[in-house]
Amino acid sequence: MSDNKKLAELLFPHIKRTPEEFEKMYPERTLPDGACVTRFAPSPTGFVHLGNLLVSLIDERLAHQSGGVCYLRIEDTDKKREVENGIEGIIKALEGFNIAFDEGATGSNAEKGQYGSYKQSERAEIYQTFVKKLVEEDYAYPCFCAEEEMSAIRAKQEEQKLTPGYYGEWAVHRGFTLEQIEAELAKEKSFVVRLKSKGNPENKIVLDDLIKGEIEFPENNQDLVILKTDGLPTYHFAHAVDDHLMRTTHVVRGDEWLSSVPLHFELFKALGWERPNYVHISPVMKMDGESKRKLSKRKDPEAAVSYYHEQGYPVQSVRDYLLNLINSNFEDWRRENPDKPNTDFIIDTQRMSVSGSLFDMVKLTDVSKEIISRMTAEEVYNLTLVWAEQYDKDFAKLISDKETYAKAILGIERGCEKPRKDIGKWSDVQPYALYFFDELFAANTAGGYDLAENMSKDEIKSILTGYLDIYNAEDEHEEWFNKVKAYCDSLGYASNMKDYKKNKEAYKGNIGDIMGTIRVALTNRRSTPDMHQVMRVMGYDRVIERLKKAALI
Ligand code: GLU
Repeated sequence: MSDNKKLAELLFPHIKRTPEEFEKMYPERTLPDGACVTRFAPSPTGFVHLGNLLVSLIDERLAHQSGGVCYLRIEDTDKKREVENGIEGIIKALEGFNIAFDEGATGSNAEKGQYGSYKQSERAEIYQTFVKKLVEEDYAYPCFCAEEEMSAIRAKQEEQKLTPGYYGEWAVHRGFTLEQIEAELAKEKSFVVRLKSKGNPENKIVLDDLIKGEIEFPENNQDLVILKTDGLPTYHFAHAVDDHLMRTTHVVRGDEWLSSVPLHFELFKALGWERPNYVHISPVMKMDGESKRKLSKRKDPEAAVSYYHEQGYPVQSVRDYLLNLINSNFEDWRRENPDKPNTDFIIDTQRMSVSGSLFDMVKLTDVSKEIISRMTAEEVYNLTLVWAEQYDKDFAKLISDKETYAKAILGIERGCEKPRKDIGKWSDVQPYALYFFDELFAANTAGGYDLAENMSKDEIKSILTGYLDIYNAEDEHEEWFNKVKAYCDSLGYASNMKDYKKNKEAYKGNIGDIMGTIRVALTNRRSTPDMHQVMRVMGYDRVIERLKKAALI
């Protein structure tokens, strides 16, 4: 037996299976030509960043638009970062945006699919089988360096202005003989396993990234850790083993991994495997004053996907907006196909931003307003109710007690050629519709009305009481408006703005002053949807009561 084989047995006596067994256990997938196999691979840290949602949407779309498979793999090799129910939290958060996986984790201790386990902490045997093979082939070795020794090496390298790391002559245990290793093991020293790099940084490798194009790197020559002291792999080794055995075709991940690509190339080479395609995503950016910065978990509440649920952004709004960030031509597609599901849009990695897309809340809200303006009152009502039942129970009760009224309110200027775009999220509905509800309106006017400052109380009173006489709830829009105009003229206010502008002195004011007074009496707002519709929905009794009440002030 060669020394390498002996060493492999010495380090991994418990590993009895062979790499070939695993290759057979997880065969090539039979999928149509061009089908992508993608994976979303989060650590269960409990926080789902908007960037995670973006990556998972790209994963899901690339797979499903090509007839492929998208699976969820849990990267839980760092037990320190794990939180309770982290896996459920991720699944739920993504499900909330219609990201569904064909395979992978379905809960903390549940999964589906033939390529599992999909939890890295349960794959120790698999990783060690392949590490054992690398040791046998002189492509890996145990390293016994303690933290202090590593610091000492780093300090010397800094002093000599050399590339930091564990490589070449600095790799103390790289050249250890079997006997030396046995001696270390006899001292019961813990060890990591390192790749025995055969690379030379003078040689170049080229990554053909599907977003960023060709990028040249020096070859890896670092003996990086592939297996930690606890027997679990580092990210790098797990990436190679899992993406190979799970037959991933496209690795979509944050571009913070770009600098590790040379190592990943060497790992795939050492293991004798074909590399997957890489799709490196730049971080989502936002404007902070004049400068751009990464959307930050710490600074920006909108970095958490839970924010969009809490605020009540419709799922479609967030997905449409993210698709806009992924491919800017989505916007034109949406304009041409306003009613198609966004899954009909085909995403293209080549059109993705190389430098990082700019997240813009205003734009998201505009996209959302457009989407909500196209919904029926019934849909808006139902979705608002679902949201309010979780986040605003009082409002949920109010609208479900007055369902017909609430739907009529939400039907104002909807279903027409130019629907209003007041609502961008479900939390906007209560402030938008507040004045329609007597109890909310009473509270809102408790401190007085937001009336024009330049009009006397007597004038206001006379405008409102006079209007009581001509108001007829049966009037259609034209008749209603003609009456308002005639009423203006009768009070000495211009019903025609052109006339008014030509000769302001001839009038007490204009139709805007009259309508404004009525509007404030009924809604305590300076601007509202069409007043004829508002009054229709409020109904005769409410309108009369409010006019009278405001007239007393
Ligand atoms: N667990 C890694 C991360 O969260 C996954 C990166 C990858 O998709 O390969 O960054």
